[in-house]
Amino acid sequence: MTAAPTAVTATAAQAAPGMRDVLSARARIEHLVVRTPATSYPELDAATGAHVVVKHENLQHTGSFKVRGALNLLLSMTPGERERGVVAYSTGNHAQAQAYAARHTGAPATIVMPAGPTPPNPLKVRAVRALGARLELAGRSLTEAAGHAAHLAARDGARLVSAANEPALVAGVATGYLELLQQTPDLDALVVPVGGGSGAAAACLVAAAIAPHLEVIGVQSDAAPAAHDSWRCGELVERPAATRAEGLATGAGFSLTQSVLREHLADFLLVSDDEISAAQYSYLTAARTVAEGAGAAALAAVVRYPERFAGRRVGVVCSGGNASGAELRRALGEPAATPLA
Ligand SMILES: *Cc1c(COP(=O)(O)O)cnc(C)c1O
Repeated sequence: MTAAPTAVTATAAQAAPGMRDVLSARARIEHLVVRTPATSYPELDAATGAHVVVKHENLQHTGSFKVRGALNLLLSMTPGERERGVVAYSTGNHAQAQAYAARHTGAPATIVMPAGPTPPNPLKVRAVRALGARLELAGRSLTEAAGHAAHLAARDGARLVSAANEPALVAGVATGYLELLQQTPDLDALVVPVGGGSGAAAACLVAAAIAPHLEVIGVQSDAAPAAHDSWRCGELVERPAATRAEGLATGAGFSLTQSVLREHLADFLLVSDDEISAAQYSYLTAARTVAEGAGAAALAAVVRYPERFAGRRVGVVCSGGNASGAELRRALGEPAATPLA
């Protein structure tokens, strides 16, 4: 029997999608997703010294951009493949997106979330169950959950969906960046939060094809820097994933997305979890919008590195809005983080 693959190596030989794949994805999913607003807020401009344009994927179906990739992947499968279903492992938003797309296409979905050490975000657990997916809690890390997911997929003949080593996910996610560049063609920089790297890789592909002057900049929490460190040292490395921002809590670099980032990413910045909480507070008060930790990381980077962004037109991806009550209480009570207001 084969050994359980890890998150890194599951589908390591995948080729990156091209613009043709992105345009096909758009034709497939355009009518199924929200054309999310790209909005500026004077208070965010004042606080950062930049002209900030927020891309509101927190208002997307399922509360994050990931549904774009999930719908593209499920709609690209053959009816026979869909009948056998999908298995995904995730801390939350990938899970919700797969469950949503599976329900939309009539495919069965099984989701594996790590059981601990921190229990999964109850909001995301409820959402996955409400979407009709089978949920299993297994393992003490995303890598252990991935092993269990691989076992289930092999047993049931289902499609194992990696969080990032999936060209169809990257192509689907890229439709959001195509949309943003149509809404705001004159951006100088685009700041994208990174977990597995599908969002940043998607932004890089679109920018390279239609806006080569646009700098794409990745952001991670310094408490989970695997993708950052993999990009800096040019090989896939593993790091502790101790961040509170579950969308950013990946413990290793992914081959497909790292190969794209290596080619196109202009820079990769780190922020602290407290800076992320402060950015969530800013979103609540200055933009009247709910961002989860991962969703606020890009804004946190623009606040933290003003010299890098001052005077420039900066797109900031508010990638998700699935914040738990505990997370929002922390953001509202974060005294050390000097929120904007
Ligand atoms: C998944 C996720 C990210 C990270 O995206 P990757 O494509 O895994 O790099 C950022 N923000 C939110 C809200 C997410 O759900």
